[in-house]
Amino acid sequence: MSDLTALTGVVTTDLAAVTRGRFVSSESFEKTVTSGVGWLQANLSLTPFNLIAHPNPWGSSGDLRLLPDPDARYRTSNTGSDTAFDLVAGNLIELDGSPWSCCTRTILVNALSDLKAQTGLSIVAAFEHEFQLLGADIPKEHVMSFAGLRRADGFASQVMTALQEAGLNPEVIISEYGEDQFEVTNAPATGVTAADRAVVLREIVREIARNRGWKASFAPKTSLSSVGNGVHIHFSFADSDGKAVTYDAGGPSGLSNVAASFCAGVLRHLPAMTALTASSVSSYYRLKPHNWSSAYTWLGDKDREATLRICPTVTIGGRDPGKSFNIEYRAADATANPYLALAAIVRAGLEGLKEKLPCPPVHAGDPEELSEQQRAERGLRRLPESLAGALDELKKDPVVTSWFSDVFLETFLGLKAFEMQSLDGLDEDSICARYRAVY
Ligand code: GLU
Ligand code: MG
Repeated sequence: MSDLTALTGVVTTDLAAVTRGRFVSSESFEKTVTSGVGWLQANLSLTPFNLIAHPNPWGSSGDLRLLPDPDARYRTSNTGSDTAFDLVAGNLIELDGSPWSCCTRTILVNALSDLKAQTGLSIVAAFEHEFQLLGADIPKEHVMSFAGLRRADGFASQVMTALQEAGLNPEVIISEYGEDQFEVTNAPATGVTAADRAVVLREIVREIARNRGWKASFAPKTSLSSVGNGVHIHFSFADSDGKAVTYDAGGPSGLSNVAASFCAGVLRHLPAMTALTASSVSSYYRLKPHNWSSAYTWLGDKDREATLRICPTVTIGGRDPGKSFNIEYRAADATANPYLALAAIVRAGLEGLKEKLPCPPVHAGDPEELSEQQRAERGLRRLPESLAGALDELKKDPVVTSWFSDVFLETFLGLKAFEMQSLDGLDEDSICARYRAVY
């Protein structure tokens, strides 16, 4: 490390899932903890292509504070940069300290506290990330192979070292199925921390790649023909005593009553919430049948085409299956803000819990081989096939829109409309290229 002034970034994650913020010298970071650093409303209308959407509800006036959460500080000196990586996630507040209704991290905090207040449950989650290394001129090896990872050994080891030092508890890094594709997982954590970790993981991986002259792209499709990069959100529940309550040996595919009702709520609102978990035009090139992503409102037992995959339990050596039992939401990618994505899952699940919805059918088999009527009988509805379609579904679901303030919805819908407009006339591969460059 050099003797340059160390800087601490106080950050927020916007509707384009871009980590933005302001830096202060690490020495004076403590001074920001009571009243934060300056921020402004219009920043929330920034598209991933760096233009402010117009019209937007904000214009050029208004000010906010970005208040760091000292419990969400992530540091590592192992990214190969001149100074340490030092990121603190923050919440956007008004100048009098009251919460700002459009702060995505606060939206998740509120969803989690409503879940807790109304059901006693907490969510434990982990975001599993896939990405591709672009510009790394290293010989190709078989996908998912030993050599496939060894060829990127310095990179892979550095990612694991940095994630460990930053406190993310990394678990596994692999060479994935796609060309130059990798996947990294970290241990589950409680709600907000899980989403904070998703932000940090992306920034650390990107920084390490950048320092090697490469780009790590988390775009859902780096080209139309490439394998998709998913963000799979694993979740499970703990009761007020911290006991895992997702599993019931006698329940359908091991789902407890609370897990079943939660899943039913998610499936019910899935078409309307897809825009919040798969938020770009290119997201919908990934959400197609036979891509191992997800294309239907489908609860499946260990099936990687299901939107909600009931994950396997391991009982080797007498291990308690209930402890690790979890469900994986697969219709997400890195163009979605992780706080909003998890908030949508929590809010939809809470609707299911409030209504004590019965377990949806656990479907096995390829929905594409069923007739429209057979799919309808099994509750299998096609997910929106475009961002425009997803936004229409969002607008049509009064339950989903009720989770947000009017001004938040106006900002989100306006931003996404502007983002779509800015891609007008481009073919699908050129659209993938635009997103590949910025995610
Ligand atoms: N790459 C797939 C996706 O787009 C996921 C493959 C897997 O199951 O890990 O979600
Ligand atoms: Mg994978």
